[in-house]
This record gives sequence, structure tokens and C-alpha cells, in this order.
Amino acid sequence: AGVTAPLLGDHKKTEEEDVKSQNLFQELVRLARPDAAIMWVALVCGMAAAVLSGLIPMYAGQAIDYAAIDSNRSMFTKAMVLLVLAAVGNSVLVTGRGGLFSLLGYKLSVRIRHQLLASLLRQEIAFYDVTGSGSLSSRLQGDTTSVSQAISLNVNVLARALMQMLVVLFLMAKTSWRLTVITLVVVPVGAVVTQAFGARYEELQKSILTELAKVNSSAEEALAAITTIRAHAAEASTEAFYVQGLARVFKLQVTQTLVYCGYICFCALAPNATLIGVLFLGGHLVLEGVLSAGELVSFILYMQTFADGFQSLGYGAASISNARGSVAKVAELIHRKPQIEEAGHYKADHFDGHVELRSVSHSYPTRPDSNVLEDLSVEMRPGEVVALVGPSGGGKSTIMKLLQRFYIPQSGRVLFDGRDISDFEQHWLKRNVGVVGQEPSLFDRTIRRNVIFGMEPEDGMEPPTQEQIEEACRMANAHDFISGLPDGYDTVCGENGVQLSGGQKQRIAIARALVRNPKVLMLDEATSALDAESEALVQEALERCQKNRTVLVVAHRLSTIKGADRIVVVKGGRLVETGTHTELLAKSGIYASLVRRQMQGMGSSLSLA
Ligand code: ADP
Repeated sequence: AGVTAPLLGDHKKTEEEDVKSQNLFQELVRLARPDAAIMWVALVCGMAAAVLSGLIPMYAGQAIDYAAIDSNRSMFTKAMVLLVLAAVGNSVLVTGRGGLFSLLGYKLSVRIRHQLLASLLRQEIAFYDVTGSGSLSSRLQGDTTSVSQAISLNVNVLARALMQMLVVLFLMAKTSWRLTVITLVVVPVGAVVTQAFGARYEELQKSILTELAKVNSSAEEALAAITTIRAHAAEASTEAFYVQGLARVFKLQVTQTLVYCGYICFCALAPNATLIGVLFLGGHLVLEGVLSAGELVSFILYMQTFADGFQSLGYGAASISNARGSVAKVAELIHRKPQIEEAGHYKADHFDGHVELRSVSHSYPTRPDSNVLEDLSVEMRPGEVVALVGPSGGGKSTIMKLLQRFYIPQSGRVLFDGRDISDFEQHWLKRNVGVVGQEPSLFDRTIRRNVIFGMEPEDGMEPPTQEQIEEACRMANAHDFISGLPDGYDTVCGENGVQLSGGQKQRIAIARALVRNPKVLMLDEATSALDAESEALVQEALERCQKNRTVLVVAHRLSTIKGADRIVVVKGGRLVETGTHTELLAKSGIYASLVRRQMQGMGSSLSLA
């Protein structure tokens, strides 16, 4: 528990996280499973390399004995040949192991990133209200890297260290159990002491930085408030305050220096002390004839390998433990089930474009207590153009979002041709209900792909033909400018479509909606200013695409509103008035007062704030 920062305030979720972080190892295994073959080959290479690296000191010792004690030239040569073979074999296997683990790491990071993005793309919109997209992209970048490294790099290090230690331990025990016992005591003690020094040093470093930051800010504060200091003649006490802070820092730094001295002293002494100890005891064993000189040399080399392995073990374990948080977070997101019921499978053969919100009440999951829509009912007959107006924050965009099934209302129903929105197959729905938002997002792809967005073969759709694309673009007043671009429809829009003007982007977004030839069209009239010519082109395109469709437009311009068949005024989440422009003016209600205010105020744009 505690490793996972809860991404949702939801209690059920937190319990699941706990279970998941306990199953961290299982999670790692699950992620690595598709590459199990590579991993096994790499592990076998590693095992074999470890055996050979254990044999090297053995052959070295034997060579010494054959040369120095037995004076046996042919046996010496044989030992040397074996030594060379072991060294070459070891390097080949080590290379294989390293290369395979590195490959494994990259394969893993591709798979984890893929799985993570796939999961994120399918989460409900409310999930994004809670979890900022910034934190999600850091999951995608940083955490996936630590996870794949935790598996590839650290498993590599750990496996190598473990195998090396096992092999060497066996050879050490075979050579001399007495010296082995010493090694088994000395090496871990050394590692623990080194770690203790390191931890204390880090801890002191943190305190020093904190203390130093305080001292610095006291100086900054003093300099910024110099007039106050002068006015009260507080120079001496201010100085004393600063000096006291410096003294606290210095005291900590002295302690840190002592720890550092202890550390370097230990690091300098420990290996030599071990060597001396082993030589002393081992020398006696040699003198007593229990051990040969060569065996003693082998043993000392084994001991070094063993100590190296022990250190790597600590390092690998620490890195894996550091990656635990990332693994838990990534795993949680990969496994997360969208908290919105799955869309249905219904595809209507015939769609009239009848739209209805029936007694809809809605609150957002982030603010469950505030009702954004309250018992709101609106019906739009096929072919009708309805303008949605009302003060900002009244719930207009929320209505649009519900009609796109971004959220499911708490109560009431959203119906198309009398059937619940949730029954429809989602691609069918997105093809028959088009949307042009206020600030269209273009992607860093060709214009063609931006227009047929969501209708590509990967989306399980038959992509529109070039004629259909051009027709949609003509209706959207976009064809002419697109044809004028150097690569025409194959022009790549820059990141966020930066090379296109606001009006051009909007017209591409209109084409994107029109290429689906939707029966229902939802428009959010832009409030941001376009230049006059652009605005006229966009406006013309918007008017043109309303023919033969049911249109719901969040309207800000009086001209758009006047042109609608019906106006629906929404305020505080309730439908307050509905009727034509003339009817509503005659009523002298909210709409009339909004229009009046607008007429007195700012020209043609009906800013209903
Ligand atoms: P309008 O489009 O009329 O300006 P909205 O539908 O955007 O109104 O907003 C209606 C209310 O819902 C506002 O109080 C707004 O703060 C709130 N709201 C809108 N979107 C969200 C959201 N994603 N999470 C929480 N509250 C929201």
C-alpha cells in the first residue's frame, strides 16, 4: 500500500490498487510474458557466462600451480588454453545476454506504451476531468521507461549478480570452507556498512539543502525589505538571524564531513583488510599444505567476483524497488476499465434525426453535488434547426456533451429516433451525429487524414473516396484553400495545425463533420474573433451545412439565432424559454432582455454572459 497515488478519489479503486501493488511481481511477469523466449535465452546466456566467469579464476590458479609448484609445462599450457577459452566464451555470452536484455527492454517499452495509450484512449471523459492530461503523459513517458527498465536492465543485473554469486560461492566452498565462511561474513558486513554511510550522507545532504534554502530566503527577505530594516534600525539583529542560520548549516556540514571521512576511510581500508585477513589465514593453510598457492590466488579472485555480485544485487534490488511506484501506476492504468457502460451494438438502417433529451438531470463526477442540468427536456424534430442560447455556465456545452455520450446523465434519457443513445454502436453514432466544436483540434497529419478522422480503416470504416472528401470540403468552403496548398490534400498540418489560420482550421473541422453526411449536426459557434473574411466563409459554410439536417447550434451571433427554427434558452441548468425569435421577444422574458442588452452593447455578436 501507499506506492500508488490514487488517480481517482474513488474508494473502490484504492482497494484495487492495494491488491495490485502487492502483485507487483506478477505484474512484471505478465508484462514480460510475451517476450519470455528472449528472456530465457538471455538468462541461459547469463548463467553460462556466470559459470565461465567462475572458471576463469580457477584456471588462473591452476596455471600458477602448474608453473610454480609442479613445473609442468604441458599442464600449464592446457590450463592457459582453458583460461583463454573461458575468457572468450564468457565475453561472447555476456555480449549475447546484454544485447538480448537490451532488446527485451525496448520491446517491453513498445508494448507497455502501446497498452497504456490504448487504455487511456478508451477511458471515459470524466476520467480526464479528474486526471490531468499532463500527469497522464508523464505516465506515458517517464513511468513506462522505468517499468521497462525495471524489467530488462534490473532483472539483467539481478540475474547476473545472483548467478555469479552462486557459481563463485560453490567454487569458493570447494576450495576452502574456512575462507568461504570468512567471506560470507565480511562481504555482507562491508556492504551493510557502506550502505549505512551512504544513507546517512544522503539524509544529511537533504537537511543541509532544506536549511540552506531557509537561510537564503531569510537573506532575500532582508534585502527585499531593506527599507523596513532601516526604518527600525534592525540591521544587527537581521545579521545575527542570518549568521545563526549559517551556523546551523555549517554544523550539519561538519557532521556530513565526518560521515564522509568515515566512508572513505572504510572504503580504503575494507578491501585491503579483507585481503590481508584472507592472505593471513589462507597463507597459513598454504603453509600447512591444506591449500595450494594457486588455489589461494583463485580464492582471492572468487572473493572479488562475489563482492561485485553482492554490490550489484543491492543496486538492482534498490532500482526495482524504486520502480515499484511506476509499475503500480502503469499497471493500474493499463488495467483500468472505463467507468461508463459499454456502448450498444444497434445500427439503425434508417435514421430520421429525431433528437430528444427527456427529463435529464446531470452533475459532473468531479462535482457530484452540483446539478448542472435539472429535469431538462428538449425535443428536436428531424430537419429542425435549434439555437441553444443562455448565459455562460448555464449548461449548453453539457447538453452537447450528453448528446455525444461523453457522460451518462444521472437521470433522464438521451434519445435518437426514440432509442436510448447507449443502445447505438459507437461508430454508427459518430457517423450519424456530427460535431463541430468551438476550437477544432487538428492533428499533425495530412489534411486528408484530418478530414476523414475516425473513418480510417483502423477505425473499422470504409474511408470516404476522394470525391466525397472534396465534396465535403467544398461545402465547408475549404476546398479552394486546400487546393492552393503546395501538397493539396496531402499537406501535413503542423503540430496542432499551426500553419493554418483559425478560420481554415474551422472549415476543415466543418468538412470533417460533413464528410460523414450526418443526419444530426451539433455546432458550437466560435466566440473567438476571426478576421472578417474568414468569419464570412465559416459562417457561410455553417449555414450551408444545415440543410436537410437536424441542427443544434450553441449560438452567440444574433444572425444565427434569428435564422433558427426555434430558440431554446437554458439558464442554471433549466430550460427557461423556447420559441422563435419573434415569439420570445414578444414574451419580454430572459431572451428579450439578453437581446436588448446585446443591442445596446456590442454590435452583432450576442454575448450572453
Ligand atoms: P455553458 O456551455 O452554458 O457555458 P457548461 O455546460 O459549460 O455551460 O457548464 C455548466 C456548468 O457545469 C458550469 O457550472 C460548469 O462549471 C460546470 N462544468 C462544465 N464542465 C464541467 C466538468 N467537466 N466538470 C465539472 N463541472 C463542469
